[in-house]
This record gives sequence, C-alpha cells and structure tokens, in this order.
Amino acid sequence: MSRVWPRLAVHRSVFAKLVLIMVVMAFFLVGMVAGFFIHFVNPVVAASVDRMLGDYARRIAQDAPNREEAQRMARRLALEVRYEGPDGAWTTDETLPTIAETLTETRRGWLRPVWGHSRYLARAPNGGHYLFVWEFGKRAKAAHDRLLLLLLAAMIGVFLAAHFVMSRALRPLRALHEGVQRLSAGDLDVVLENRTRDEFGALTDAFNRMAGRVKEMVEARDQLLIDVSHELRSPLTRLKVALALLPDNAKKPQADRDVAEMEAMITELLEFERLSDPRALRTTHIDLVALLREVASSYEDAPPGVRVEADPPEIPVDLDADGIRTVLRNLLGNAVKYSLPDSKEIVIQARRRETLVVSVEDDGPGIPEDDLPHLFEPFFRVDRSRSRKTGGYGLGLSICKRIVEAHGGQIQATNNRGRGACFTLTFPVPPGGLGPASG
Ligand code: ADP
Repeated sequence: MSRVWPRLAVHRSVFAKLVLIMVVMAFFLVGMVAGFFIHFVNPVVAASVDRMLGDYARRIAQDAPNREEAQRMARRLALEVRYEGPDGAWTTDETLPTIAETLTETRRGWLRPVWGHSRYLARAPNGGHYLFVWEFGKRAKAAHDRLLLLLLAAMIGVFLAAHFVMSRALRPLRALHEGVQRLSAGDLDVVLENRTRDEFGALTDAFNRMAGRVKEMVEARDQLLIDVSHELRSPLTRLKVALALLPDNAKKPQADRDVAEMEAMITELLEFERLSDPRALRTTHIDLVALLREVASSYEDAPPGVRVEADPPEIPVDLDADGIRTVLRNLLGNAVKYSLPDSKEIVIQARRRETLVVSVEDDGPGIPEDDLPHLFEPFFRVDRSRSRKTGGYGLGLSICKRIVEAHGGQIQATNNRGRGACFTLTFPVPPGGLGPASG
C-alpha cells in the first residue's frame, strides 16, 4: 500500500512530477560535480600533496630531530613520528606500526597515501629510519560532515524552491481546472482571470473565449425556443378554434390531443423562460408544511400514495407559493409516474435547521448514475422511448431548478441506497426569513 501511494500521487499530479524532476535534476547535478571532483580533481591534488609531504618528510629526516623536537612538531602539525636507529628507538604515538612492519608493507606495495591518513618512511643520516604519519582523519571527517550537512540543506532548499516556483507556475492550471468544472456544472458566466503571458495564459484566453461562445450558443438556443414558442401561440389558438368548429370525425380526438400537447409544451417553455428572472417570484408568508400537505393530498389516491413528515410541525417561510407548488407537483408527478407496482409510498420530508431541506423520496427504478448530472437540463429525458408512455418533454425538472435557484436554493437528485430516487431541495435560512434570491 505504502509503495503504491506515492506512485499514484506522482502519476496524478503534474505538480508532483515537476517537483520530482527538479529534485532528481538537482541530485544528478550534485552527483556530477561530486563525480568530477572524485575522479579528476582529487587524484591530481592527492598526488601533489603526496609528493610535497614525502619531500617534507625526507627533509625532516635529514635534520634528524630527537624525541622532544618530534613531539613539538607532532603538536604543531598533526604529525606522529616513530624513530628506530643505531642510537635507540622512540615514538610520539605507541599505536604507530614499527619500522619493520612498515618496511614489509612497503615491499608489498601497501604504503600508499590514502585520504585522511598518509605514511612516509625516510632514512636518517645515521642509517636509522623515521616513520612519519600525517593524521588528516579528524579534520577530514569534520569537513566531510560539514559538506554533507551543506548538501542536505541545499537539497531541502532546492525542494522548497521547486515547490514554491512550481506551485506559482501551475496556478493558472488549477484555475483552469476549476473553470472547466464550473462550466461543466452549468455555470456559463465563468470568466478566468489571466495574469500570465505564457502557454497557460494562451490556454486561459482560449478557455474564456470558449466559455463565452458556449454561453452565446445556449442563450441563442433559449432565445430561439422562446421566440418560436411566442410565434406559435397565435397559430395554435387559431388551430384550436378551427378544430372546435370542425364537425366530429374519427381523427378529431387525436388532433385535439396533439394540439393540447403542443399548447402544454409552449406553456412550459414560456414558464421556464419567465423564471429565469428572480423578480418573477411573488413571495408571500406561508406555512411550508401546510403547502406540502395540500399538494400531497392531490396525489393521495394515486398509487403508491404520499406521506408528509415535518420537523418542526410548522415551518413559516417567505416563498413564492405557486412556484413551490409547481416544483412539488413536478417532483410528486414524476415519483408517481415512475413508481413500480410494488413500490412503497412516496415520502416528503421537511426539516428546518441551519438550512431548510425538503426531500421527495420514491421507491421507483431510480435514475442511471450517468444521467444524474444532466437531469436538470432542459429537454433531458433518461429514456426517450418512454416519452410516448410517460408523456413529458424533459422540461419539468429544469423548471424546478429555476424556481429553486430563484429562491437562492439548490436542487439535487440522488439514488437511494436500496431502490428509487430522492430529490432534495435546500434553501438557505437567512435571519430575516426565507425570501427570493437577490440579483
Ligand atoms: P418529464 O417531464 O419528461 O418527466 P422531467 O424533467 O420531469 O421531464 O424529468 C426528466 C427525466 O428524469 C425523465 O424523463 C425521467 O426519465 C427522469 N426522472 C425524473 N424523476 C424521476 C423519478 N422519480 N424516478 C425515475 N426517473 C425520473
């Protein structure tokens, strides 16, 4: 699990990928510089230091220092000395190898300068031998530790800088993501602020142009529908009059039904348009629970029946009663229409807490998950082939949405865990009571 998580996080985020690339590049560069020093600079420096120290060791041996002079030198130069000759043997450090051991090593080719520890054997004028051991160990380790700390700090710095730079550079991408989500949720007024002139800036401009174009197209579609509906009203009235004057024949009832259907569709369309203006609401102070019971009573006899539950039992609010009646009729009408022979009764629930929530829950077939996001779009129907049987135009829920949003509320459709659909209306409850949305 822990191995899979970071892989997924990097796979899903461009930001994580870019930060990772920067950190990997920083490691690579540091590795390259370190490799350059280890392979090219170090051997040259080590060889010249070795030559110098060897030379220096031979010169010291020429001066044939005694034990006291060697001890002074050891304190001053981090140098340990062993002497073995015809006039005796002494050492500044008992752990140093003997001259015999060192000579054996020299013959086997081991006496090579190593980083932090260099040994040199030199002959004294009296035929004896000096062993000089330069201890760079402690100093080298301290320098090494400091370098490591510095590298660690540099890597943390690179990571933080990469994080900061990338999160700034990718800010327009996040804004675009948000914009696309808002647009797909139906917010056609989305306009993104563009602060950059790079490719993201061009993309943001293109997005704004696209959103503007989509808005124009949707508005043109709505306007066309409204214009056509207005224009159709007069000829339809004339057709109705003409039909009424016609003598009865076998085809007349069907013609009457077709005209009535067209009239209902035009009325719904014009109502849909009227509701796009929140000022169309006629708000009155009502008891919502009484209104729910009143609408529910007209569906009492239609199977599977309706039950109203309210908490508290009375909910006084400022609402457009006709608008809310239309919403409930649409929701209850659908719930009844799509109920199955063995469906349990429809439940309307009203709760008033921080928000006012009204839900209509049925026990029908529910709504395919893929269709849920489109349910409130005008003319959307889940199954077009059912339109003959169930007789709607897919306008009912879009009208509900307009009415609820004009009140500053939201409407949502979900499927129940077991079976059936649930439509939930949520209204804000401002301190002064619930009224129409401003603007
Ligand atoms: P219509 O007037 O055609 O019923 P609506 O806008 O009221 O249009 O509903 C749109 C679509 O949503 C319907 O065609 C139907 O498929 C689906 N729908 C609405 N309510 C329910 C429900 N309670 N159960 C199942 N499907 C529903």
